[in-house]
Amino acid sequence: MQSLTNRSKMVSNKEMSFVEKLYIPAILGGMGITFKHLFKKNNTLKYPEQTKVLVPVYRGQHVLKRDEEGRENCTACGLCAVACPAEAITMIAGEREKGDEDKYREEKYAEVYEINMLRCIFCGLCEEACPKEAIFLTDRLVPSQFERDEFIMGKDRLVEDVNNRIDITARQLTGKRGKI
Ligand code: SF4
Ligand code: SF4
Repeated sequence: MQSLTNRSKMVSNKEMSFVEKLYIPAILGGMGITFKHLFKKNNTLKYPEQTKVLVPVYRGQHVLKRDEEGRENCTACGLCAVACPAEAITMIAGEREKGDEDKYREEKYAEVYEINMLRCIFCGLCEEACPKEAIFLTDRLVPSQFERDEFIMGKDRLVEDVNNRIDITARQLTGKRGKI
């Protein structure tokens, strides 16, 4: 049957010749390819001692931003979750209590906000969908973990520290969806 992509190949069932049965030409061919690679430039980095220089538009671990007064920008509208093609974002909205005006910018806020970094494909669509400039992808690498649950990041790891703001201007100046 013809495949949709036209890339399928018919498998040959023909008998192998005597020379082919020796496998020596195939082994020598394979060793020749290995030998050629000995003289090529090594692209492997000795991570974590050596780290790769990332392009300014690199999209890594997200941050939930605060405004200049330290209040969380996110209003739990859910647009980022709807835009996410990987269904990596989940949230529960809460209503701001009286006295919490210095914590949350709007009357509605994200009580729970989670991103599953194992599902995320770092496309940046959540960032583009957000009307409140609340979520951005940064140049930080998602740290490696031993447990899958550790990759589900909640607000404790996503919201920026009020005293240690995360600078996202390099990506903003270069263009949100620039070339990588
Ligand atoms: S970067 Fe893309 S895949 Fe990851 S959470 Fe945002 S929209 Fe979803
Ligand atoms: S991050 Fe932005 S788009 Fe997502 S829920 Fe918060 S305000 Fe809405």
